[in-house]
Order: sequence, then C-alpha cells, then structure tokens
Amino acid sequence: MTDDLAQQAERLRREINYHNYRYNVLSDPVITDAEYDRLYRQLQALEEAHPELITPDSPTQRAGSDLSEDFPKVQHAAPILSLSNAFSEDDLRAWEERNLKLLPPNTELDYTLEPKFDGLTIVVTYENGVLVQAATRGNGIIGDDVTPNVRTIRSIPLRIPVEADGKSAPERLVVRGEILFFKQDFEALNQQQEAAGLPRYVNARNTASGTLKQKDSRITASRPLSAFFYDVVDSRGIVLETQWDILQYLRDMGFPVADDVGYYPTLTHIIQQIPVWESRRNSLEYEIDGLVIKVNDVAISDELGVVGKDPRGAIAYKFPAEEVTTKLLGVTVNIGRTGKVTPTAQLEPVFVGGVTVVNASLHNYEQIERLDIRLGDTVIVKRSGDVIPYVVGPVTGSRTGDEQPILPPETCPFSGDVIVQPEGAVDYFCPNPHCPERVFRAVEFFVSRGAMDIEGMGPQTVKTLIDEGLIQDEGDIFYLTAEQLLELEGFAEKKVENLLASIEAAKQRSLPQILASLGIDGVGSTVAALLTDTFDDMQQLITLSNTIKQAEAEFNAAASVLVDAAKSVADHDAELDRALLRVRNPLTELAPRYVGVEDFQARMNRALSPLLELSPLRDSISIQLAQALKKLIDAATPLLTIEGLGPILVQNIVDWFADEYHQTVLEKMRKAGVNMKAEKQKVAGDSLDGMTFVLTGTLPTMTRDEAAELIKAHGGKVTSSVSKKTSYVLVGESPGSKFTKAQQLGIPIISEDDLKEMVQS
Ligand SMILES: [Zn+2]
Repeated sequence: MTDDLAQQAERLRREINYHNYRYNVLSDPVITDAEYDRLYRQLQALEEAHPELITPDSPTQRAGSDLSEDFPKVQHAAPILSLSNAFSEDDLRAWEERNLKLLPPNTELDYTLEPKFDGLTIVVTYENGVLVQAATRGNGIIGDDVTPNVRTIRSIPLRIPVEADGKSAPERLVVRGEILFFKQDFEALNQQQEAAGLPRYVNARNTASGTLKQKDSRITASRPLSAFFYDVVDSRGIVLETQWDILQYLRDMGFPVADDVGYYPTLTHIIQQIPVWESRRNSLEYEIDGLVIKVNDVAISDELGVVGKDPRGAIAYKFPAEEVTTKLLGVTVNIGRTGKVTPTAQLEPVFVGGVTVVNASLHNYEQIERLDIRLGDTVIVKRSGDVIPYVVGPVTGSRTGDEQPILPPETCPFSGDVIVQPEGAVDYFCPNPHCPERVFRAVEFFVSRGAMDIEGMGPQTVKTLIDEGLIQDEGDIFYLTAEQLLELEGFAEKKVENLLASIEAAKQRSLPQILASLGIDGVGSTVAALLTDTFDDMQQLITLSNTIKQAEAEFNAAASVLVDAAKSVADHDAELDRALLRVRNPLTELAPRYVGVEDFQARMNRALSPLLELSPLRDSISIQLAQALKKLIDAATPLLTIEGLGPILVQNIVDWFADEYHQTVLEKMRKAGVNMKAEKQKVAGDSLDGMTFVLTGTLPTMTRDEAAELIKAHGGKVTSSVSKKTSYVLVGESPGSKFTKAQQLGIPIISEDDLKEMVQS
C-alpha cells in the first residue's frame, strides 16, 4: 500500500519536474496550466496525508524557476512569493476561517479584488524615481536581469512620478507587476507572422515570456508588450497601510494599474463578484485566469505570515480552465448547404470551460495543414464563453510517431461525388446540388425560424421527407400533399393539417424575407431589404444576373489570350499576379472602379499593364477588353450602385441567381404560388427622409427587422455597414464591431427610444 503511494508520489514528482523544465527552460509546455495545477495539487495532497513521502527534490519544496543562463542574476529585495489557489466559494471561506483563527478575536477583515493576469511576473526597482533594474521572478529569490528589454515596454515608466505634481518619488521603490500581451496586440502580432509566412504563436503568455527573454532588446521592442502593476515589494521613504492604498499609490506614480481593481468590506461581497467576473472575462482586453483576493490591511497580512511559499494574506481564485489538452481521435466531415466541407475534431471527452466536450471545430483543411495537426495528436482545445470549442493546435512534444496526416476527403461521404477545390479558394466543396446532405442543410435553413418560419418542420421531419423521396429541394415543400404525409410514420391527421397550413402561410412571406431564406452567402434580412428597395420582383434579379454572367463570360473569353500568355512566364511578380486576379474576377476587381466613368480604357490598361505587355496583340486586345468591360459595367450598375453592397456580395448574388439549379428551384416555387413580388412600402411619414441608419445589438422591445421597417416606413434607409455617410447607428444590448466603428467615425449613436422619438416628432 505505502509502496504504491511512494511510487505514485515518485511518478508525480518526475512528471511535474519534467513539465517545469518544459515550461521554464524550454518555454514550450506540453500540458496546460490547469493540468499542471492538477498534478501539483495531487502531489501536495498526497504529501500532506503522508509527510514521510516528502523528498528534498519534491517540486513542492521549492517554487518553480524561470532562470536562464543568458542573463545576469539579481537577488530580490524580498522573496517574490506565489499564491495558493482556491477553486470554489468553500475554498475561499475556509481560507478566511483559517486566517481568523490566527488573529486576535473579533478581527474583521476587508479585502481587495484584482484580476489575475495571465502574464509573467516582473520586479522593477526605481532609485530616486529612475528605473534602475528589472528582473524576472526567477525562483523567487533570484531572478534574471532583463533591464534593457523592460526599458522597451512603453507602459512601464522609466521615471516616476510620471506627472510632476506634488508627490515626489521615494528614495527607493521596488514594484511588482505582470507583463502580458493585450488580446488585440497578440492578434496583430500573429497577423504579422502570417503575412511573413511564419507560424502563428499559440499561447500569449509563452510568447510574452519568450519576448522578454530575447538577448537582443530590439526584438523585444518590436513586439507590443504591456504591463500592469499591483504590489510594492520594498520601499524607502513611504508608508502604505493598505493594499488599496498601494494600488492608488502605484496609479499616482504613473504605473499602469488595471481599471477593474476593487475594494470590498467583506468576503461575501467578493464572492458575489465572482460570477460577474466570469461573465466579463472574455470581453476584457487582456487574458486573466482568475482573481486575486488580498487582505487589505498590510499589517494584518504581514502578521499572518507565510506558509510554505504562499503568503496567507492573499489567495488566487482560479476560473475553470478554458484550455486543456486531449487526444484527437478522428475527424468527421460535414457538408454544408453550399457544399462546403467542414472538418470537425472528435476528441477524447474532456472537461473544459465548465462542460464536457467531445467535438471541436478544426475550421478548414488549410488551417489543419498550417498548424500541422495530425490524427492521434495530443491537441490543445479551447472553449471560452459562447464560442464553439476549437482546436488551438497540436502539442508536438507529445508525439509518438504514429500520428497520421489529416487530408481532405476525396469524395463526398453523402453523395459520393468527387470533392473539388475551386481555384484560389481555401475550402473544399461537394459540387453536386442534389447531394442529399446539401439538400438537407439548405431545406433545414430555408424552413427555420427567422427564415421562412415553417412551423412543424424541424430537422427530423426534413430528414424524413428527403429520405422518403418526397422533397429534393426547397421548392418541393410547396407540393407536399396530405396523402403523402399521412403515410409517414408519426404523422396523424392533425399534425399534417397544421404542417400544410404553415406551408401555405409561408407562400405569402414578404419578398425580403423569402430572399433572406434562400441561403445566399451574405444575404440576410438587411441586404435582402436593400435588394427589394431596387428590385420589386424576383424575376428581375434572375434576368439581371443572367445578363451580367453573360457579359462576364464574354470578358473572360476576351481575356483568355492574356491569361494564357501569363502561363509562359516562369516567375510571376506581385504586379503580374494582381493583374491576373483582375482579369479573372472582372466583376469584383475591375467593374466597381469604373461605374459611371466614361472613358476608362486608359485606366484599365494601366491596371492590366503587366499582362498587356505580354501580348503582341496589345492594342486590339485592349479595345476588345474595354468593350467587354463596358458591357459588364452597364449590366452590373444597378447592383453595384446599391449603397451597402460591396462587389464580393454582388458577385455572390449574381452567381447564385445565374445558377441553373437555383433558377429551377425558384421556378418551382413561383409555380406553386410562392410570393415573388415586393409590396410597395406603406409610407407612414417622412421624418427620417434622407437619413441612413445602421443597426447593431439586441433592441429592448423590437427585433432589428421591425426597427428597419419602422425606419423605412418613415423615409429612412438602413444599410449594413457603418461609413461616413451613416447618419445614425441604432445600438442595442451587446453591440458588435459596428458600434466601435461608429465611435471611431464619430457617428451619432441612438437607442430604440431615441428612434421612436424621432419618428413621432
Ligand atoms: Zn455530396
């Protein structure tokens, strides 16, 4: 029995020491922090119950070290302690009880609450207000001297106080803080990496650590590190009595202190704040992995002392882990309504972000290849807030060599069609519009709430109807008969009657609603409404799209000589590639620039010059192309001039309506009596005449569609994106990026109530 326990302790010690090494020395951990904590706590519990198992080399007997041989060493003024962890309200209550027992009777404790930054500790020394030294935590006693690198971090003052008013700097001040990347800066850094063809950084804290430990401080300077400060380690010439005073003092001296720190008179108040923080966590500008709760009174905190390496006067409350590692067991292939192939990871069940997860998104095959994720890999899975869990990347250090590459399927698992990847596309597709899975996804979307809203037609019913061969596309829904439905299992008379009634009602949906139900990429209710402002009949969109497509084909035929000529050039430069892109996609790349321009041939020649130079027929091709482009511009002008429709959206709309399959489905609907015409807007007033609105967020009493109707009924316009031409942005609960954009451009922001007032006046 004891033997087993001894072995268990030995195994844990070895594992923890290995992970310490990976983390601190190699900066390349193979497990997440949460799992490390779990191992550590296991060992701690084991040693507490069986103190005879404690060995001098046990990782519990010393704090972790991040010392590296590359830097001079610094002895800390006072030990840089770590914090013990709490994972529940009970843990926090027990912590307070333990403390109260050590203090005189009737002591009352008040607290500060601070975010627990997911960064790395830094200890900075100022002498007479001047930054003289900065060191990492190291092993808590000795740290690495990284002064030149820390000097490059803009938010860390080189001289205090930053503002020269009243307060003077103490003779000596040693402060403790955390170095980290703001989420936005980390993303920007990754975009730079991608642009340079380099791999993305996976973990912000490891990247921050690697950045701080560069031997060349110019590299540190080139990366956008930030810092927050929260403690005074040592001082000469000042006395601060509470943690709250310390935070205020740091702020007064010009140190960055998180806005969100708080003071609370009791632990109960602190506990009430935990769920608030858990829900705010993802909207913060920086990553946190918990909260730090400190006894406010510095004298009491000192009196409580230290147990092991943890001070008793503070504790870290840890959130449930959002990132864990698990095994990637398999990949399922999903086919969407457009035929797009989406890979989904099948995982060994794992508890993350408060739930057990077995599936996670892998985005697409390009991403799988870029991150080098393989079947059988140990992978990092992230689940935060409402975001669908996704695979962050593989833990390459855990590979055994048996891992297999993940390749896109050669054929569609539902229809057997050969999977294709259109030129220049990231995604793979099942090209068959009759593919049963594509039909299922399309119909499922078409009938759903918010689309055609056909009640009684849930996914299971849709599946049955397809399996029984009763529907092959969205149009067939309107031909279903009572006889057919009654033969299906579970369809009694009443159910059939209700379903047919709701199908009948759906035929009379408004044209914008029908357009938004078709599943055209990018065409939701706002864009559908923009379209019906210009086109009041579905047939107009079909005819126009056919004409545009025809003009596009003629342009492409004329341009094919140039495309062929480019094939003979071995090394394409960026200019040639740009020009090729333009002739291949005239509707998105060329036509929008020349709408309303009379004489554009010279300009077009410039845009295509590297290509035209390749052809001896330069002049005649140029004339031919200009004519074909003119035709295309003329045809597409009604769409290209709708404010709020970008060229890519226009291309999507044209491609969709010009598609023969879609035309057949629409024709079926028309014959069945589905509404294909827009009602003329009933005008209730003109108080919003000439004004353009953008809507974002959830409104208190109306849906966004209803608000849009109200605006249009009073003469206003609704567009989907914020620009300088936007008059007002109507903002509800949890607004999106449009809100930020509006603030940047200084567009007036109004509420639902403001809107109602505007239409009444
Ligand atoms: Zn298929």
